[in-house]
Amino acid sequence: MIPYGRQSISQADIDAVVEVLRSDWLTQGPVLERFENAVADYCGARYAVAVSSATAALHLACLAAGLGPGGRLWTSPVTFVASANCGRYCGAEVGFVDIDSEDGNLAPATLQEKLRRAGETDSLPQVLVPVHLSGRSCRMDEIRKLTEEKNIVIIEDASHALGGRYLGRPVGSCQFSDMTVFSFHPVKIVTSGEGGMIVTNNEKLHARLVRLRSHGITRNPAEMVGENHGSWYYQQIELGFNYRMTEIQAALGCSQMQRLDQFVERRNYLADRYDRLLSGLPLRLPQRHADVRSAFHLYVIRLLPGQGGKNRAQVFEELRRADIGVNVHYIPVHTQPYYRGLGFGDGDFPVAEAYYRDAISLPLFFDLTEADQDKVVAALGAILA
Ligand SMILES: *Cc1c(COP(=O)(O)O)cnc(C)c1O
Repeated sequence: MIPYGRQSISQADIDAVVEVLRSDWLTQGPVLERFENAVADYCGARYAVAVSSATAALHLACLAAGLGPGGRLWTSPVTFVASANCGRYCGAEVGFVDIDSEDGNLAPATLQEKLRRAGETDSLPQVLVPVHLSGRSCRMDEIRKLTEEKNIVIIEDASHALGGRYLGRPVGSCQFSDMTVFSFHPVKIVTSGEGGMIVTNNEKLHARLVRLRSHGITRNPAEMVGENHGSWYYQQIELGFNYRMTEIQAALGCSQMQRLDQFVERRNYLADRYDRLLSGLPLRLPQRHADVRSAFHLYVIRLLPGQGGKNRAQVFEELRRADIGVNVHYIPVHTQPYYRGLGFGDGDFPVAEAYYRDAISLPLFFDLTEADQDKVVAALGAILA
């Protein structure tokens, strides 16, 4: 079976991990900082905080943004559940902004209208989580303009988009946001096994994120209440977590960062090749925008209704039977039973639901060969013929 995504591990990656295993530090050592610096430098952001997963990163980013009970977080319905769950972890209410059917990202025009209505009923969100679906940046300049002067913290969920660019800058520069979150799960662009990171240009947010990552404990006397007992002393000044990343994970991630440009280059090459090979089939292919360079975490095709005479489920199952490990991204979050239990249901976000009905993610990863890609294209051609 050709999977839809998988990691690429080099000898250098293996050597880096082994080196850590022979060192003094398995966690909280020097490699973590090296990994953080590598990502911050790549993105052109001032600070980076590595954590155990992007889910943990989103949770901490929401807490650092001040989200809590009575607050609201809005995100896209077409994303992995973690982009919404982070709001629930904080006890906040979650809302969704329907997507642009073209790129699958939350639609600025829909956001504008939803903000207008929320403004009238005094129910604006404190946090907005735009998700760069498939690795394609949202229109962040428009999103920032719409939320400016409304006290809304923007946390980019860039789990798909490390190595992507927007308006000439790397995703993660935080030019139009307060924080950006990356995932290092094995199917993502760069892996650390499990892992996540938050980048920001804001010193206060950075300090808070570092503290929350490790139990809410500080060793900085300036942050302490009352007297400092001595150099052993620490204080827990708020409720944090153990969301730390190990040195073993950081070593893998840090080593992988050296190939990030190669990873994204290859993914774009294969995506362009899919475009050419699939151009004759009754499909909607991913569009390109002059402002955006996608990291191409996913290559999502959309079936055109009525053509090929088959629905998505049929095409999907036939591809799987041909040993093509296709996938679907995503089941709209608001239709998950948990979110239905909070009052959401079918028809709430019709563009997202339509997107879900005809989307299929084709195999796309660094080590995918052209021969395997040809196999995917041939299978799809035969199924849609
Ligand atoms: C993978 C993913 C996450 C969660 O990442 P983990 O590192 O597995 O916690 C969050 N959001 C999106 C959009 C993702 O694709």
